[in-house]
Amino acid sequence: MFSLISPSHATKTEWNLANFQLGVGTMALPQPRAGLMDISLYEGGKSSLKGHDRVIKLSSNESALGPSPAALSEYVAVASELARYPDGSVAYLKAAIHEVHGLDSDRLICGAGSDEILCLVCRAYAGPGDEVIHTEHGFLMYGIYARSVGATPVVVPETNLTADVDAILAAVTDATKVVFVANPNNPTGTVLSTAELARLRESLREDIVLVVDGAYAEFMDDYDYDGGRALAERTSNTLITRTFSKIYGLASLRVGWAFGPKSIIETLERLRSPFNINGVAIAVAAAAMRDVTHTENAKAHNNRWMSVAVQRLRALGLAVIGESGNFVLPEFPGAPGKTAADADAFLQSKGMIVRRVENYGLPNHLRITLGSDEEMELVLNALTQFMGGSSG
Ligand SMILES: *Cc1c(COP(=O)(O)O)cnc(C)c1O
Repeated sequence: MFSLISPSHATKTEWNLANFQLGVGTMALPQPRAGLMDISLYEGGKSSLKGHDRVIKLSSNESALGPSPAALSEYVAVASELARYPDGSVAYLKAAIHEVHGLDSDRLICGAGSDEILCLVCRAYAGPGDEVIHTEHGFLMYGIYARSVGATPVVVPETNLTADVDAILAAVTDATKVVFVANPNNPTGTVLSTAELARLRESLREDIVLVVDGAYAEFMDDYDYDGGRALAERTSNTLITRTFSKIYGLASLRVGWAFGPKSIIETLERLRSPFNINGVAIAVAAAAMRDVTHTENAKAHNNRWMSVAVQRLRALGLAVIGESGNFVLPEFPGAPGKTAADADAFLQSKGMIVRRVENYGLPNHLRITLGSDEEMELVLNALTQFMGGSSG
């Protein structure tokens, strides 16, 4: 509905009166809480390109091998259960996590993606006037969830694209309530050692929740990496989160989980919606978790391509720092015609979608998810051609 009086030709009072009479008074619009409209909308990786029927999508860190065949048969099998409400306690999935990881079921919470859990932490522990710390090139959702509860995100500089424990500690104030660290971090692929994480925890005030986001934990080799597990087991203020969206190849199902002290788990349980994990997700994620062989294959595939990709990108003169996760982050030289934006345009012209990361403060980098054998050959050959070598 439009007002009959245009604002440019009316006084404010006339304008309000006219709109009021029409029932569309602008003054009466519902107003969101202060600060909500400052939230930038999260943009996921693109999935289509004009003029290309078939694209190679390496923009969202999805699994190269897809879900376990056991998970796929479970998906078909649960179709007969769709009329039923799911088990709100998610006991079946928690049992599978317990089986595979040996973690206490009553210290687990499941979420619609680990994203939901990150949000629950902010809702439970932060609010207006509080501060939520994350690092310079950390996952964008941390800041978004902090703002969504009225808290202030505090962005801490990194050193060499890596979270810097001393810088985090220096940013702590009396208002700090939550610290988020992704380990390995997306999009940098860098990792904090177990010792550094422990030092962070020990030096943080006890009333600050430390969240170690392990979205890529399953790709790690065990040497000097426990993903914060020991801290989550023995401290009263550390939570670790995991997801089925990455190595398990179930991004569309929206399932994640977290492990931590009972007091935090019981708090988060009070905030989640009663059936936040749907019945299909419970059954399929449990099957995926139990198919340990598929997970190992996915990890082996990933780690083989990680070495090849890092080596080939470096041979092209592109700097690569982090080598963890299921993606690489080459830095482009920035000379005219050779920028990250140019590389992105070149790849798109060949039907390949990778991720620009300027909104992570990395305008000269591209994040490339490690895909299938065929996808990796194609994208690495295309980059070789782009950098002026032979295309192989
Ligand atoms: C992908 C990702 C997540 C969340 O994924 P969900 O699909 O919500 O489980 C969380 N943290 C990081 C760092 C990620 O890259």
